[in-house]
Amino acid sequence: MKQLVLPFLVIVPVTVGALWITTGGQKQTNAALAQPESVRFIAPMECSDPLACVVQNHVDLTPGPGMADASCGGRTYDDHQGVDFRILDLPTMLAGVPVRAVADGVVTGTRDGEYDGAWLARGREAVGDRDCGNGIAIQHEDGYITQVCHLRRGSVAVKEGDTVTQGQEIAQVGMSGRAEFPHVHLSVSRESAGMDEETGTKTVARLDPFTGRTIGDGCGVGQPLWAGATPDHWMPDAGPFIFKSGFTNAPVTLAMIERKPVDPSNESKAIVFYARAVGLQAGDIEKIELTGPEGFEPVGNVAEPLESDKAQTMRFVGRPAKDGPLPAGEYQGRYQIERNGEPVLDISRRFTLE
Ligand SMILES: [Zn+2]
Repeated sequence: MKQLVLPFLVIVPVTVGALWITTGGQKQTNAALAQPESVRFIAPMECSDPLACVVQNHVDLTPGPGMADASCGGRTYDDHQGVDFRILDLPTMLAGVPVRAVADGVVTGTRDGEYDGAWLARGREAVGDRDCGNGIAIQHEDGYITQVCHLRRGSVAVKEGDTVTQGQEIAQVGMSGRAEFPHVHLSVSRESAGMDEETGTKTVARLDPFTGRTIGDGCGVGQPLWAGATPDHWMPDAGPFIFKSGFTNAPVTLAMIERKPVDPSNESKAIVFYARAVGLQAGDIEKIELTGPEGFEPVGNVAEPLESDKAQTMRFVGRPAKDGPLPAGEYQGRYQIERNGEPVLDISRRFTLE
């Protein structure tokens, strides 16, 4: 029995959005700052539907090596200083997904012209020190500063000095800079009210908007900086979500899934079922299988329990055509995640081969 490929798991280090707009005469600090009374933020894009948008990575609240999201879990990576709101895939991005101002404020810096997908295509060399890609920095009341990164090339619709209002469209979601998937990296900072006595400058602290905690304070509860209640699927312990699945004609990579893998046909040399999930935890067990019409030998795989939390995983399973075309009829792909012995996600997809 020939197996086309062994299903495999990909660990994605995903994306960093470094602070690229210098705040003149300021320095980063881990000093805890008082909580605000007035400014509250909305998401940088419409993100109420977990089928269309999820938070893939949270802020890493630990100082130095190691990582912890706000709930002390692993929905982040070392030194990630923002929140990544991601959309489904590249075709969705190309259709145009608005990015909006998270609160009223004044634009203090912008960048545009960086190519989407440059990191995937050509790596560090193409991106240089412009990890943020195309971005917009906004100064808000109470000393808050936000920055959005990885915006779509040519979409930045504001300039330095512009006044923006909360919800105003300012750009589109992209994948410029150090981005492996279309998303917006949102970072929130706050500058001190007074000057630092030693340096005569204001200090700036990077914050986690889910808790208001300063990076370096470590994980734990806090006061969210969001306007209104946050949807459950934004939370670090939410999920898992099956964020994209389907059928194609050959083994796939995560980069291919960001695009639109071609459908299988009766001329295909193979049929493959793939599934990409977001928000897995250590110990989760993934199962994937592909069944088909008479003449198709079912194929499946059960993975070893995950050794650590994973922001995103991808698996596929398939079988080549043998002795002629693939059998016509209905194929079914099924992907499951088992957590602590209980099924927490179970999806099935169907595809009819003419
Ligand atoms: Zn990020």
